[in-house]
Amino acid sequence: MSEKQPAADGNESHAEEVEGTPVQRHFCSTTYVTQKQSGVFKTLLLMHKKLGVWLPPGGHVEENELPHEAALREVFEETGLRVTLDGGNEGKAMGERTLLLPPAHHLQLEEIEAGRHYHIDFIYFATAPDGAQVVDGENHGDIKWFDEHEIRAIAEKDMFGEARLNALESIWRHDKH
Ligand SMILES: [Zn+2]
Repeated sequence: MSEKQPAADGNESHAEEVEGTPVQRHFCSTTYVTQKQSGVFKTLLLMHKKLGVWLPPGGHVEENELPHEAALREVFEETGLRVTLDGGNEGKAMGERTLLLPPAHHLQLEEIEAGRHYHIDFIYFATAPDGAQVVDGENHGDIKWFDEHEIRAIAEKDMFGEARLNALESIWRHDKH
């Protein structure tokens, strides 16, 4: 995925180099999953072992995988939940050769290693069925549903700012319906 290839029109590829190291930009999918519990919407976060911060389920989009498929796969692998993306899980036929994919809520470019490694992150919002139980996956030690107040109470060092905003938005969006 990170191999530098010339573009079909003969122009240089968009890959850049910093001090001889190619810049890597990987496609990733991240999903903020909410569930209604006793009338209160909560969002699911996992304590990332390496980073030591609360993050939603997500990971790299694999070769030949569609972004929303990666989102659904990562949620299932890390939480055991079968969720429904806000834009649906299937996409819609649009003419004979085109599928309208379930839309991401937005995309983020994230610096993983300065100047070297970035993630182009498809951010999805999704809903877990009422009563569906979480199964802790292999990669995470701690997994927890947070309501709005609990998200705000997470210390700054324990959560990236943009993840906090997205987590809050994933709850607020239910009020807008
Ligand atoms: Zn990566």
